[in-house]
Amino acid sequence: RQGQIRVSDIIDQAYSNIQSKSHLNAFVNVQDKQKHAQQIEESQKRYSEGKQLSDIDGLPIAIKHTFIFQGFTPNIDATVIRKLKQNGAIIVGKTNMDEFGMGSLGMYGYNDKKITRNPIDEEYIAGGSSSGSAVATKSGYSLGTDTGGSVSYPAHCCGLYSMKPSYGRLSRFGQILYSSSNDVIGPMTNSSDDLESLFDIMQGEDSNDSNCINFSNISKIRHQDRLTKNPENISLQNLRVGIVQEFDIAELDNRNRTIQDNLKSILKDQGAQLINVQIPLIKYALPFYFTLVPAEASSNLSRYDGIKYGYQIPIGSQANTSAKQDLFDYIERVRSEAFGINVKRRVLLGNFLLSSRFEDYNEKVIESQRVRRLLIQQYCKVMEENQLDIIISPVSIGIEPPKINDILNDNKGAQKNPVFEYKMDYFTALPNCLGIPAITMPVQECKTYKFPSSFMIQGYFGEDYHLLKIAKELD
Ligand code: GLN
Repeated sequence: RQGQIRVSDIIDQAYSNIQSKSHLNAFVNVQDKQKHAQQIEESQKRYSEGKQLSDIDGLPIAIKHTFIFQGFTPNIDATVIRKLKQNGAIIVGKTNMDEFGMGSLGMYGYNDKKITRNPIDEEYIAGGSSSGSAVATKSGYSLGTDTGGSVSYPAHCCGLYSMKPSYGRLSRFGQILYSSSNDVIGPMTNSSDDLESLFDIMQGEDSNDSNCINFSNISKIRHQDRLTKNPENISLQNLRVGIVQEFDIAELDNRNRTIQDNLKSILKDQGAQLINVQIPLIKYALPFYFTLVPAEASSNLSRYDGIKYGYQIPIGSQANTSAKQDLFDYIERVRSEAFGINVKRRVLLGNFLLSSRFEDYNEKVIESQRVRRLLIQQYCKVMEENQLDIIISPVSIGIEPPKINDILNDNKGAQKNPVFEYKMDYFTALPNCLGIPAITMPVQECKTYKFPSSFMIQGYFGEDYHLLKIAKELD
């Protein structure tokens, strides 16, 4: 970034990567390069005058497709996009994803047509749901969204950095929501410095999003906050790191266990204190997640009825015209045709959980919210009583992403039994349930093994900047 950078070369390189790697299916649409000509020129001028707008001035960024509908060109930008543009970023295109953010495999794009492939080895998945963003990050930056691991898991699969910010820290104005009480927007990058630059530009309250609040007084949330008292003093030497017993599960891949152990010894060698803690309610995070999230999804997606907007069936094209056709038949057909398998699974589960089959139609949802509240209380208590700065965690049970053909041939049973996929979110759904920030960082386990692995550091609600500082120390 320093000295003589040539913005046009950087953008050319990004576009040539997009073209040469198009078989990875990272992008669903690519912006016309010519349209950036003026922006490139202006940015170059700023660099030559030493007046660049930010760390990302003139640099390419790709955006997850969840900020737009197919065939629809919005006439205003989402808040985070506006902020990125105002800081000089050049938006190169929209990236592939599991439809509505539902999935972990990057194989359930709209109409299940395009499977995102891992840039390290194309036979493997790139992770999901921000699959295309992960691939695109290999040649720049990108934005993903995260409901229960959608920036963390693709970062893990592709050896990248990602950040899931505190809930409510970044405006979601302009984002198409999956689960309103969990969704956040998160950057995906190749370094912890870049995570900080993007986060810093995008965060901040927004009058267009009532969920997005001012965090400047958030230090008051944690009563015994060592970090907030000494924000400049964060270093590995005085770090207090929580080792959570509930993360040590039998299913954890041995190589992943080794990575956690290595991380612990590095932290210890640097002078950090490791503190063993128990947060027993963590075992309910995933059941909570797959109760509340489908319920919110079925409610959020009920607006896609083929009447107001989105997929529509031309009048007169109804199959089986002899049968009685009414509005409900139409809506049923629209939703049956347009939604992919993962979306249907979540909508059906959500509808079931909200149905009148239960005495009180939302008793399951209320129950799961109570579990969430207790889990948050337990987590905060452990963090506060032990004065923890961070908790370390694996990102995924396994290290190696699944092979695409194994999933397609159902060797892992993922098609018939979606629980295979749900279980992949054991570690990553937790930060969303708690609303806390979490950063995924890559580690190269050994030179002979092709996939890098990763670990996650989780912080306290609102302490996003502290967590970023710790990530930079750890790098
Ligand atoms: N795999 C999870 C799900 O399908 C998380 C996806 C996400 O974070 N958007 O719900």
